[in-house]
Amino acid sequence: MAGAHLDSWVAGDGAADNGAGSAVVVEAARILSSLGTRPRRTIRFALWSGEEQGLLGSYDYVARHLATRPPTGDAELDTAGPYFSSRAAFPITPLPGCRDLKVYLNLGNGSGKVRGLYAEGNVAAVPVLKGWLAPYASLGAGAVVAKPTGSTDHVVMVKLGLPAYQFIQDPLDYESTVHHSNADTFDHLRPDDLRQAAAVMAGVLLSAANSEKTVPGNVVPGRADDSDPFRYKDPSAD
Ligand SMILES: [Zn+2]
Repeated sequence: MAGAHLDSWVAGDGAADNGAGSAVVVEAARILSSLGTRPRRTIRFALWSGEEQGLLGSYDYVARHLATRPPTGDAELDTAGPYFSSRAAFPITPLPGCRDLKVYLNLGNGSGKVRGLYAEGNVAAVPVLKGWLAPYASLGAGAVVAKPTGSTDHVVMVKLGLPAYQFIQDPLDYESTVHHSNADTFDHLRPDDLRQAAAVMAGVLLSAANSEKTVPGNVVPGRADDSDPFRYKDPSAD
């Protein structure tokens, strides 16, 4: 599965955040379709809504198809929405087929060329992701780093222990100038970089869909227990 968010901040056009990622997702789908590929597994594409308001689209998708969380019982948190309440909403109950999600790839950091994938702290995933990216090393996209990344839709799945990863991209002017500003306009997009990203996304999706290998997921997090240093740390407990 691959996705990006279709909504944008109020200033500018939202071209880089995240029209760019959305265009790449649609182009990756077009590439795979036009080549007549017949992958062994279903490849699903998502354009999320409400990302800027708190990852609302991806949280809703997860609740419908992957896993549910109960209300926290804290009225303020529950009213604030899942972006806030999920820190304290346990237990997580996986839905049937939740673990059938082989990999989710997110593109959410502007128009820059894809350089590889963040493994989101899951070092066991690094060799598998590197293998799927290997054919694209010559396009400059072969890197896998363990670093976790935040702030966008893959996080919703990472929080369930699912194999969800974000692409590393050239930063360009995204954070410094364009992001959430009135400069987020079409002229900041780089067509050649977006074409490269679409080719890499399509190729990695096809490799994953046809691969015998699975990305090792993380455990389903439970409620924080400060007396056990090895349990998942719940930031809301601070
Ligand atoms: Zn944004």
